[in-house]
Amino acid sequence: MTHAPTFDFPYPDARGRFGAYGGRYVPETLIPALDELAAAHDDAIRDPAFAAHLAEVLRDAVGRPSLLSEATRTSERLGLRVWLKREDLNHTGAHKINNTVGQVLLARRMGKTRIIAETGAGQHGVATATAAAMFGLPCVVYMGEEDVRRQALNVVRMRLLGAEVVPVTSGTRTLKDATNEAIRDWVTNVRDTFYVIGSVVGPHPYPRIVRDFQAVVGEETMAQLTERTGRDVPDAVVACVGGGSNAIGIFAPFAYLPAERRPRLIGVEAAGHGVGTGAHAASITAGKRGVLHGAMMYLMSDDDGQISPAHSVSAGLDYPGVGPEHSYYADAGLAEYVGVDDGAALAAFQRFAREEGILPALETSHALAYLDELATQLPAGADVVVNLSGRGDKDVNEAMRVLNLGADVQPGGEAPS
Ligand SMILES: *Cc1c(COP(=O)(O)O)cnc(C)c1O
Repeated sequence: MTHAPTFDFPYPDARGRFGAYGGRYVPETLIPALDELAAAHDDAIRDPAFAAHLAEVLRDAVGRPSLLSEATRTSERLGLRVWLKREDLNHTGAHKINNTVGQVLLARRMGKTRIIAETGAGQHGVATATAAAMFGLPCVVYMGEEDVRRQALNVVRMRLLGAEVVPVTSGTRTLKDATNEAIRDWVTNVRDTFYVIGSVVGPHPYPRIVRDFQAVVGEETMAQLTERTGRDVPDAVVACVGGGSNAIGIFAPFAYLPAERRPRLIGVEAAGHGVGTGAHAASITAGKRGVLHGAMMYLMSDDDGQISPAHSVSAGLDYPGVGPEHSYYADAGLAEYVGVDDGAALAAFQRFAREEGILPALETSHALAYLDELATQLPAGADVVVNLSGRGDKDVNEAMRVLNLGADVQPGGEAPS
């Protein structure tokens, strides 16, 4: 089965809004580039040849469709039928590649010959460098100097894939500063350069573009559930939420169903040390409305309106805002948002590895941790789909540090003599 995407969603509206959220809060100089991008995306998704080519690349280079497999031991323990949408089995080990491949195909269609991106933890940078390498396009990734130091392995991965990693030394030397630098590059080189954004954030049309390219996850899930259960809609869908792209990917095809058909959609944010501590990344559950990275959304800010630094044990959820479409779903009651703290996520990470033989990403572990609570709310045998957004191999160092699992081995993995 190769799935051709449908790209058929009611939002955003013509102004790039999801209700009150989204839009374009950017300097005038960016508007023509965003208009050009929106027009190109509109044109591409109406072209069956583009959808067919995308589906072919997703099959051959990403490995789609990803499996929908039952987590049988978790199901048994919780009295549910827990289904896993296995984005961890994609090439490069997470959902991010769905989006970067889509945007690089769009770049080629627009005649752009150079790819740029910003990255925080490095996962989006690696996914972008991978897609650029597939199509032979030069790629520049902006990364805060502090993140370059913390995420050395991803820097090496990007360089091996042929990307140039530019350390950014301004400000706090993290994601925010890398984003500013990428925007500066884009404005300067917009004629030949395509800027690949990594989650459902940024000014219109980015939240829409990333949603459209990630929606293949939810669309496949519907078809696979029908095969396995005879129903295309489960009782609940659970996904972790950083910027929100893996969650939107699996939610969007369900969110706009008529209310009586719509399953419970549950987005799990990172509660870090606890939402009461300030050290968290729970933008919807503990944030307020504001503007970040060019769009209106829920975000974390202090009393003066300054963006607060986010904290999570998982680097991929460590973002102080959340995409405008999630902000809209939250207000409209189309999805529910909850918080899971670092400790609960780490416990789920360990239990899931032993119970299912799968190392989940620490991000994904937040979604898995919520299953225990969900089981108390649902009837026995209910079908629950978890978006297994990525694999946990990248988190082994963090686990070794936080869980003290490596005290008796050298960093190289050999036992001390
Ligand atoms: C980046 C990442 C996330 C968080 O990003 P979203 O845009 O919220 O999906 C979640 N899981 C994994 C495995 C990631 O790499």
